[in-house]
Amino acid sequence: MSFLMNTYARQPVSFARGEGVWLWDEAGRKYLDAVAGVAVNSLGHAHPRLAQALCEQAHTLIHTSNLYQIPKQEQLAERLCHLAGMDKAFICNSGAEANEAAIKLTRMYGHGKGIEIPTIIVMERSFHGRTMATLTATGNRKVQAGFEPLVKGFVRVPYNDIAAVAQIAEHNKNVVAVLVEPVQGEGGVQVPDPTYLQELRRLCDAHGWLLMLDEIQTGIGRTGTWFAFQQAGIVPDVMALAKGLGGGMPIGACLAKGVAAEVFKPGNHGSTFGGNPLACAAALETLAVVDEQDLCRHASELGEYIRAGLKTQLNGVMGVVEVRGAGLMIGVELDRPCVELVRRALEQGLLINVTADNVVRLLPPLVIQRDEAAQLIEMLGKLIKEFLAV
Ligand SMILES: *Cc1c(COP(=O)(O)O)cnc(C)c1O
Repeated sequence: MSFLMNTYARQPVSFARGEGVWLWDEAGRKYLDAVAGVAVNSLGHAHPRLAQALCEQAHTLIHTSNLYQIPKQEQLAERLCHLAGMDKAFICNSGAEANEAAIKLTRMYGHGKGIEIPTIIVMERSFHGRTMATLTATGNRKVQAGFEPLVKGFVRVPYNDIAAVAQIAEHNKNVVAVLVEPVQGEGGVQVPDPTYLQELRRLCDAHGWLLMLDEIQTGIGRTGTWFAFQQAGIVPDVMALAKGLGGGMPIGACLAKGVAAEVFKPGNHGSTFGGNPLACAAALETLAVVDEQDLCRHASELGEYIRAGLKTQLNGVMGVVEVRGAGLMIGVELDRPCVELVRRALEQGLLINVTADNVVRLLPPLVIQRDEAAQLIEMLGKLIKEFLAV
């Protein structure tokens, strides 16, 4: 009997400690962690510098509220804006909150232009969070079912389909923004055409829409650059971050550029916990380590290594549809549901995730080393081959 609400189908394991890409359960069994708390533990587990930064900050000041100045929050905003080429940041506690800020900002921007029902274009198979607005934006009926009435002001098009977006521009004068993941995570590690973001940028510019990127999963080095949009050579108007930003501490951010950065005024938006000194210290240290250890390039190289290794292992194996991804966001699509693989991997001491029913998703810590990646390829290749050989 658990006193927790029945919201998760958890694996029958709990972890006692971790180090780098490794976790140990209560019985002392060791696991290779290719989930990283769902793209959160960017520096792996128990990173000494992150632990040190947290200890020092906890001994100094944890929380004061946004009634007062918070120098660490200022520093974090400056650092993020500098890295992303954006102008302003709002710091919050999670991905859904970062998207909520983005959605609210866009609506206010639309009202400022005299649009009474500001509408945001969102994608099929997208995931943006579990709050009412973000689950409405999400392109997955399972996430929405039972929570109707949904929020108004969203129109949906297929992902990676520029013509569908262009068509909406023809007849819908209420559109104010496009909200899109540069690579869809929960949707099954869907990588769009290399020109997709550029084309979206062009359409947004042509119609005065804001381009809002949900980089909650793709950001902070995950896809091989600080932000995935940098590989497309564009800059968004609004960007949501969370997951890897705090190296495990709950923190999110909504960044904005140009007119979008000037929308919110005092009283328009806020958060009690958002950007407190402890969370900001964690994010600042995470960013410092990613920078100093060149972890973006490392993620790009190791991602390529893992994808190449898996392709070799699974070459010609019936039932393997595709190995794909960007940096250390990797998907192996099979031709059948494979949630069962999560349990089998766990038994072998490997933590993986399955999303969209038939895509094995790997999101290892950015610090994964080559020998560890080789073990991951070996173990997963074998598991998938055994699973498909029935
Ligand atoms: C995880 C995720 C979210 C939601 O973040 P939470 O911190 O769980 O609210 C939103 N968008 C994307 C792309 C995500 O991967």
